[in-house]
Amino acid sequence: SACTTHIGFDLGTSGCRISVVEKHKDPSSDQLPLLKEIYTEAVSWSDPSQKDTENAASYDDPEAWMNAIETLLAGASKALQKGTSDQPLSAVASICVSGTSASCLVVDVKANKVTRKARMYNYDVVASRGDKEDPIYSLKATELLDTYAPPRHTARARSGSLAKLLTWNEERKLGESEVLCHQADYVAMRLRANDRACGAGPGNTWTVSSDWHNCLKLGYDVQKLEWPSWMKECLSDALADSNNPLRVLPQKVISPGEPMGTVSSDVAERFGLSADTVIVGGTTDSNAAFFAAAGAEPVVGTAVTSLGSTLAIKYLSQSYVEDADRGVYSHRVPSIFSANDTDDSGSACWLAGGASNVGCAVLRQEEFSNEELVELSAEIDPNTDSSLEYYPLVNTGERFPVADSNKEPLLTPVPESRRDYLHGILQGISNVERDGFQILGELGATPAQPSVVLTCGGGSRNDMWSSLRERRLNEAFDNEGEASVKVSRASNTEASFGAAILASATF
Ligand code: ADP
Repeated sequence: SACTTHIGFDLGTSGCRISVVEKHKDPSSDQLPLLKEIYTEAVSWSDPSQKDTENAASYDDPEAWMNAIETLLAGASKALQKGTSDQPLSAVASICVSGTSASCLVVDVKANKVTRKARMYNYDVVASRGDKEDPIYSLKATELLDTYAPPRHTARARSGSLAKLLTWNEERKLGESEVLCHQADYVAMRLRANDRACGAGPGNTWTVSSDWHNCLKLGYDVQKLEWPSWMKECLSDALADSNNPLRVLPQKVISPGEPMGTVSSDVAERFGLSADTVIVGGTTDSNAAFFAAAGAEPVVGTAVTSLGSTLAIKYLSQSYVEDADRGVYSHRVPSIFSANDTDDSGSACWLAGGASNVGCAVLRQEEFSNEELVELSAEIDPNTDSSLEYYPLVNTGERFPVADSNKEPLLTPVPESRRDYLHGILQGISNVERDGFQILGELGATPAQPSVVLTCGGGSRNDMWSSLRERRLNEAFDNEGEASVKVSRASNTEASFGAAILASATF
């Protein structure tokens, strides 16, 4: 059987991780290829609330991103070394990078340098005043979004890439050769910086290639695979001194997993990579985490529920679903994952998502320790209903499955027993998950109900809760009494593993 090696990098909220995978494929059988993670390691970003200690990598510093990538490559090379003259990374066929969504910066593609410091996923252009102490700055930011982006559009988010782009231009007009670049785009670009195949001309000028996933929050139309017309207008207005309104946008937008060029000779030499190692289109960290959980050949009807501080669901659907009021949007899934996606005729596959404000944070608020959660859960029968009807929010306001900014937490009456209290809370969260899947179905997701719900986050450790959730879902999606939804723990949810899966997809 054939074996290829691939690398995935994830630049996440807490640090940067590498996964090296081997893909074993038997060309003579129709069995699914086998993916095996042979190495994984991470470096952490320094805690931004701490005063910067020397050498600590800051999560918003592009140099720190590159240092982390190089440390991890060197570490992988060392760890995988078998003989003394071995170049263990020479077998790597491809590399994929995922980054935090809507984290971006501006680069000058003639001077090959960063011109605007990275504004990360959590940077809110309205709450922030930017670099200057400008009292009308936040008003401006809101006004810009109101002026340019259509009502209810995903790109209107105050922490989205478009908001950052427009306010950068407001602070100082974007110059001729300045281009917006997402975190993942930047790292991929630096890895292939002097690669002629990706369009770098004489003098090795930088070229920004981005992907459908990173560009969704910038405004890219993932159904038509083009920049929308309102955006062309918006940018030509905002950047009135330019002839080409799209010049500040990433120069290319490709499918995640699609080859964008080869690794630079410098990087190849330093880490013993082959000169033809391909860099492929990247993705966002949460999409990469979905691919990690769902595996190399996910089928429609597969869902991943994240039970961390908050509850979020991602659902692989045959159809595109969107509901701006509820914050529901769909990422286009690369054709390599769905044989039918040949063009924009609607045969693509979609990763629909929704995020609730309900979640495990309420367990901390109500002072359930992790030990107590294990002990009390063992005493709960997942086949019995609690009579408590909670809505386990921590703060006022909900977006998904109901859009209601005035929705109040409901955690009363509080029963005598801690076990009963926990039962009520877990059931309440399960009901929100069930309603979430029902809403996605009502919005047109196909199939209308999930078949497999994989779980990640702290709540995934609780098997009793999985049984309770599975029963809830099967009651909602009644198939003549047949249980048709299976809930289980995801075996891998590291975004770097998902990125490695993407890297391997065309091999
Ligand atoms: P975050 O979203 O903050 O990264 P995690 O994914 O680490 O969160 O999940 C932590 C949450 O998981 C905590 O709120 C904790 O209460 C919850 N948790 C931990 N163990 C259990 C358990 N056995 N059952 C249910 N919830 C749990």
